[in-house]
Amino acid sequence: MTNAACWCEAQKYLVGGVNSPVRSFRAVGGRPFFVDHGRGPYLWDVEGKRYLDYVCSWGAQILGHRHPHILKAARKALGRGTTFGTPTPRETALAKEISRAVPSMQQVRFVSSGTEAAMSAIRLARGATGRNKVIKFEGAYHGHSDALLTKAGSGMVTLGIPSSPGVPASVTEHTITVPFNDPEAAERAVHKHRADLACLLAEPVMANVGVIPPEEGFLAFLRKITRRAKALLIFDEVITGFRVAWGGAQALYQVEPDLTLLGKVIGGGFPVGAYGGSKKLMRHVAPLGPVYQAGTLSGHPVAMAAGLAALEILKQPKTYEKLEEKGRRLREGLVYDCWRRQIPAVAQQVGSLLTLFFSEKPVRNAGDARAADSRRYSGYFQRMLRKGIYLPPSAFEAWFVSAAHGDKELESTLSAHRAALKGL
Ligand code: PLP
Repeated sequence: MTNAACWCEAQKYLVGGVNSPVRSFRAVGGRPFFVDHGRGPYLWDVEGKRYLDYVCSWGAQILGHRHPHILKAARKALGRGTTFGTPTPRETALAKEISRAVPSMQQVRFVSSGTEAAMSAIRLARGATGRNKVIKFEGAYHGHSDALLTKAGSGMVTLGIPSSPGVPASVTEHTITVPFNDPEAAERAVHKHRADLACLLAEPVMANVGVIPPEEGFLAFLRKITRRAKALLIFDEVITGFRVAWGGAQALYQVEPDLTLLGKVIGGGFPVGAYGGSKKLMRHVAPLGPVYQAGTLSGHPVAMAAGLAALEILKQPKTYEKLEEKGRRLREGLVYDCWRRQIPAVAQQVGSLLTLFFSEKPVRNAGDARAADSRRYSGYFQRMLRKGIYLPPSAFEAWFVSAAHGDKELESTLSAHRAALKGL
């Protein structure tokens, strides 16, 4: 079957031809290719064309596709059965490994997606504090639960949807959004809502309007003002967890939140999310406490095995130094060639997360990201795709570099980049 035929058929039976909006290529034009298989840093489409993959299943595939250690662990787990709805030792083993790497997560609850992790953590924050309000950052994406679908990043910013029909105003009236990297705005909001503020929820590195690192001291300031207001600080590390460092962004920036959300990497390519915090806080969750949250497939045995296998590999010495080095090489190379061609651009990178913004100035928040030239990105995306480099099909998503991207792949990316810039 050709890509065109797959696309035609998909649109008949799937909404917009896809199961998650950004995959549709609406923001960049054209149509998606259909994957036949992947290996290492590459994907092959149904027509046999090879792509160097910088989407990596939106960050889940930090070790590249079909890593032998993960496949072996998943196959072994599969051999024992697919799901039991009854505890397995693997859930404890993965929770223990996470807890060791992320000490603020003394106890963990596994769910099946990042959306569920964020939704459940908000419920816990509200249940534990007896308060309602949530502060989040403009352009941050925490999944698609009702309370968090305001001024969100990812697909919403990509498709220009400010708020979603179907979400009652009575739900989002408790959600306050402030700009990222603006300590005064955050402090004002915390002060104003302090009597009813359950939590402040942040992606410690914004990665859903493109990559925006926190400015010096910003995360520590959030820690200070939430503590003062007796509200919880929640870090959404669904992207950054086990991605920017072993132990996530909280290890990198040395700021401990009360609750942490994880997903993507900890599932080794299978559907997983998790939230966790101190024992004292997690005691509010059922069955120990009254905050109810449950899931038929939570702690799925195959996903647990794959996640454990992924962490075993990531734990090896120098993994994160090497990932950081790859990110840095790309960032420097991308910007240098834009500068030579007098194309205004900044590349922002934290570890193996990276975004090239066609912008005159550094991008500090969602407003800056939206002001960058996303039309130029669309043209650039198509040129890169023609050269077999698959970048995120949106100017507002992070590029994900995997451990499988080697020197050869980085070189070919930069060479395609140089060619793509000609006449852009
Ligand atoms: N939080 C962040 C920071 C994310 O980037 C995402 C998804 O990209 C989510 C939460 C939602 O995770 P999921 O798509 O697994 O529901």
